[in-house]
Amino acid sequence: MNIVLLGAPGAGKGTQAANIVTEYDVAHISTGDILRAAVKAQTPLGVEAKSYMDAGGLVPDSVVIELVKERLQENDTEKGFILDGFPRTSTQAVALATELSELGRDIDIVIAVSVDPDVIVERLASRRLCRNCSYIGSASDTSCPVCHGEMYQRDDDRAETVRNRLEVYEKATTPLIEYYRGRDLLTEVDGDRPVEEVYASIKKLLDKLN
Ligand code: AMP
Repeated sequence: MNIVLLGAPGAGKGTQAANIVTEYDVAHISTGDILRAAVKAQTPLGVEAKSYMDAGGLVPDSVVIELVKERLQENDTEKGFILDGFPRTSTQAVALATELSELGRDIDIVIAVSVDPDVIVERLASRRLCRNCSYIGSASDTSCPVCHGEMYQRDDDRAETVRNRLEVYEKATTPLIEYYRGRDLLTEVDGDRPVEEVYASIKKLLDKLN
């Protein structure tokens, strides 16, 4: 099962992707996670990406596309994958379609998690991540409930950067919703509900495909 998950920053993509990976045993491809790991390791990719990420902008298409192409060639993606945070531009969507057709694979479903933008700034301001296992929690988690690692706030979750990320999403990524609707792949899910309810809706969709 090959899944694309779309949604504004703070829509809950990461949390839902983690649930899907656990239940359906697909490879998790999060460009944000890959880029953050590269920044932390100070690789050439990380050094290049950091300034765009800190400003809440998008890392150039050419960089991200190459990264996903390489990742899709790894064996674990053959059992299925979930793309979380990619594609984010039309250029990336077209590159993905080309790469998948070269690999003889297809996207089975695109799930767009929609959320009220007013809710997002508040949600992201209280978001905390585990430094060790990337668990996504909130300001009330003093340590990671999964592995007891240290929780931290992402630099780009500060309010002014969040606003920029939302604008970027609106401009660059919203057109993808129409792109995938036109290809009959899109299903929208209401993300303004408790995590478990959103996941139950997603699970219903995925079980129909399985
Ligand atoms: P995320 O964790 O998905 O919110 O991504 C964090 C940041 O990484 C974004 O604000 C971008 O700067 C960068 N990024 C992640 N995925 C992409 C992508 N597909 N295209 C361009 N930049 C990306």
